[in-house]
Amino acid sequence: MPRPVCTCCEYLKQNCVCDLIPNVHTNLRIIVFQNAKEALHPKNSVRLLKLAFSRVEVVVVTSEVDVVTKLRQLDLSKWCLIYPCDHSMPLETMSENERETLEGFILIDATWRKAFAMYHTSEVFGRISTKHFLSPPNGNYVIRKTSKEKALSTFEACVYTLECLELSDLSSMRRFFCKRRHCNGEKCLQ
Ligand SMILES: [Zn+2]
Repeated sequence: MPRPVCTCCEYLKQNCVCDLIPNVHTNLRIIVFQNAKEALHPKNSVRLLKLAFSRVEVVVVTSEVDVVTKLRQLDLSKWCLIYPCDHSMPLETMSENERETLEGFILIDATWRKAFAMYHTSEVFGRISTKHFLSPPNGNYVIRKTSKEKALSTFEACVYTLECLELSDLSSMRRFFCKRRHCNGEKCLQ
C-alpha cells in the first residue's frame, strides 16, 4: 500500500512541512513557467514556493501556447524574467526606478537545456527585460546538480530575487530550505 502523502505540500504525511514553512507576503507577483516533466520531479521545489509566498502562480508548460497565453495577459514592460543570456542584465544593479515600477518577475523551472529551449521557442520572451544573478549566495545552498555555475534551484532563485527586488530579509525562508535539504553545514547558519 502506498504511504499517505500530504495533498498540500506533497511530502509523505509523516514528513509534512505545512506547519513549518514560513508564509511571506510579497508585493511582487511571481510567475513560474514550469516544464511539464519538471512538475513530476519528486524533489521539485515549486510546490514549496506556492506554500511559502502569497503571490506565486505556476503555469505548467506543455507547449509554447501556454507561455504565450499567459504573457499576453501581462504588461511586459512591468515584468522581468530571471534568465541568464547574452543580453541579460545583473539583477543586483537594477535601479530604484526600475524596481519601483515592477509588477512582478518570471522564473523558468526546467533543466538548463529545457529552459533554453523554452526561452528560444517563444519569441515573446525576447520582449521582457531579462536578468541574471551577479553574486548569488552560492555557498549557502545545496545546489542541484547542473553544469552551470551559480545555478540555484527555482526556490532559491525566487528567494534571492525577492531579496534583491524587495530588499527584504528572507533568512527564515533560507533556513527552512536548508533544513529540508538536511543540510547541517555551518554555511547554512546565517
Ligand atoms: Zn503538508
